[in-house]
Amino acid sequence: MKAKKSLGQNFLIDHNIISRIVSSVSPKNNELILEIGPGHGALTEILIKQAGLVVAVELDDELSEELKNKFSEKNLSVVHEDILDVSIEYLISDQLNLHPELNKKIRVVANLPYYISTAILTKLIKVRHIVQDMTLMLQREVAERIANPPGSKDYGILSVIAQLYAKTRILFLVKPGSFRPIPKVDSAILHLDVYKEPIAEVVDDEMLVKILQGAFSQRRKTILNNLKSSADLINPKLSSDEISKLLNSALIDPQRRAETLSCQEFAQLTKVFYEFLVGK
Ligand code: SAM
Repeated sequence: MKAKKSLGQNFLIDHNIISRIVSSVSPKNNELILEIGPGHGALTEILIKQAGLVVAVELDDELSEELKNKFSEKNLSVVHEDILDVSIEYLISDQLNLHPELNKKIRVVANLPYYISTAILTKLIKVRHIVQDMTLMLQREVAERIANPPGSKDYGILSVIAQLYAKTRILFLVKPGSFRPIPKVDSAILHLDVYKEPIAEVVDDEMLVKILQGAFSQRRKTILNNLKSSADLINPKLSSDEISKLLNSALIDPQRRAETLSCQEFAQLTKVFYEFLVGK
């Protein structure tokens, strides 16, 4: 079978890397693993030997058929779907009804298709209440952006969202030669250990995302100027003066740049904006 570029197919062929990924996860026999994009089953094969259940979501027709024929293990469920279309919550609750002995929180393992890695991560963060942790192969740059602290060049929307809800850590880097076909980029394994409680309370997820999109719209500008020029996105009724006052009441200097703000500061800003706008 020829790898489909359009589906981000770069299959792992390096056994050393495959076993490092699975040993970093060390699945237990009472755990449910959600594997996204199992491909030919390089990771799946080892995961099913250790985990209670592996639910593997694969979009490719041929690959999902291949997986169903290749593995007869009862603790593997191959789901032939687009991960962006399925309701992860329904999928998992159906499986947990069938397997009540399993932990209620799932563990996610994936060598992600890079063309939709951000969309998949955002979707996983939305269902964080049912996720224990995620071990994800990503493009190195994306993994670094997510894990980097405030003040670093790459800190941005995804870093804030991920770091509010999870402890993020790059476990190791993976060279292009570990895949076939060989990708043009370096890769990294990122671990996200989801917190029981976020590090700061977010009063409204949608408002947070709008503020982040506004705040990071032009990296060289101050947060005040960025929020002013994207006021319409946040709420068309917001005036420039009000934005300045709201920043001050969140104790954020309006002349700072978005990449210097901590996750807690973004959560506080969201609260101040939300409370002000609810009253409008
Ligand atoms: N896990 C395998 C490995 O490590 O060798 C394959 C990883 S490959 C980078 C990504 C896999 O995701 C492919 O098998 C591809 O068909 C699948 N995929 C791509 N888009 C998908 C989607 N929207 N939903 C589910 N699977 C998808």
